[in-house]
Amino acid sequence: MANAKPRNVQTLIKQDRDLRFRSLETDPFESMMQRFDDAARRLNLEPGLYKVLRAPEKQLIVSIPIMRDSGEIEVFTGIRVQHNTSRGPGKGGLRFDLGVTLEEVNALAAWMTWKCAVVNLPFGGAKGGVICDPHALSAAELEKITRRYTSAIIDMLGPDSDVPAPDVNTNERVMAWIMDTYSMHKRHTVTAVVTGKPVEMGGSLGRREATGRGCLVTTKCALRHRKMKVKGATVAIQGFGNVGSTTARLMQQEGMKVIAVSDKSGGIHSQKGLDIEHCVEWVKEHRFLEGYPGAVQVTNEELLTLPCDVLVPAALENVITSKNADLVRAKIICEGANGPTTARADAILDRNGIYVIPDILANAGGVTVSYFEWVQDRGGYFWDEHTVNERLRIIMEKAFEEVAAMSEKHDVSMRIGAYMLAIERVAAVHRLRGMYA
Ligand code: GLU
Repeated sequence: MANAKPRNVQTLIKQDRDLRFRSLETDPFESMMQRFDDAARRLNLEPGLYKVLRAPEKQLIVSIPIMRDSGEIEVFTGIRVQHNTSRGPGKGGLRFDLGVTLEEVNALAAWMTWKCAVVNLPFGGAKGGVICDPHALSAAELEKITRRYTSAIIDMLGPDSDVPAPDVNTNERVMAWIMDTYSMHKRHTVTAVVTGKPVEMGGSLGRREATGRGCLVTTKCALRHRKMKVKGATVAIQGFGNVGSTTARLMQQEGMKVIAVSDKSGGIHSQKGLDIEHCVEWVKEHRFLEGYPGAVQVTNEELLTLPCDVLVPAALENVITSKNADLVRAKIICEGANGPTTARADAILDRNGIYVIPDILANAGGVTVSYFEWVQDRGGYFWDEHTVNERLRIIMEKAFEEVAAMSEKHDVSMRIGAYMLAIERVAAVHRLRGMYA
């Protein structure tokens, strides 16, 4: 066969690129693969391992029929992907969104593999999604979707095989339903099957704030690296969900000046700094930031180009693209979201000297405290919040330093440094485990 002779990784990457349809600015899987290819090439990764690491291990698509409150039957589609489980159980969130696609979930699952490896957790990468608009569904309908989805993918799940967590539009309540459904099937309570649960039923203190706290820790590291001051540093944050609002709150508590925040409805800007607690109260009451008094309205697009020290994209993928990257005027970007910057935008930001803390490092605080939750559930022994936050800080600072060292050693961006560190860690385990065939 023509394939019998191993080729080097450069040839494989080229062939693969020629074969695949590449929409670099819209397909998150392509965005992920661009960085993976770059890092793999620099590591001179063995061709066999290259092939293994780019292919998701398991992809499951299920249909989810439920009876709506109206009595009508509706069928939704759910996906769960395990990208790589060589280092431990698949770990990764579950999102409810109309934009969910298999390509997106594949990319997000792979990002979880690299993210868990960057912070050196004993987990692989997984992700799930249900194609739906959660805002158009009642709580009872969401519960039915969650339970039916859980039972449809139950063979993939388990504390030793795949552990979901919250992601876009899912929360503690959704995790409680997953845990209950799984436990009813297993006929005993299994708390460690999900993380991000309510604290009363085995959740960890500090989990809800963990991603935002990780963004704060890595931003402080970056400011130090850039010899910039934390106090008074100006920040613009896109996204006001769990990650965006917590990051805003924690950064403000740290003496930073949050000058702009936004959500789906648009953004608000005030050069003298916003009162984030007040913004949170406003959103609790009015659902969106829209109409917030005493600030200038900006669009989401305008927010990304405001002059500031730190820009935190904390919403969805592909918001910084080749079209607007040249307009970004922040000195540091802390990627609270997964995949907010496209591969083409990377090159522009690099050229303009913008320091990017890549998603697989910046937002790894969430999965790190998920790991703590899983450990606490399995040990049946729970830690106080101070212990959780301190251990999180130690892990995030160490990961930051390791990524910075990698990027300096190879003279690459923090993003490629993070991918190189992660791929090397996953590849090392594959080499040790060898091939089962
Ligand atoms: N959804 C979060 C992420 O993308 C958390 C995943 C987890 O805790 O498993 O990192």
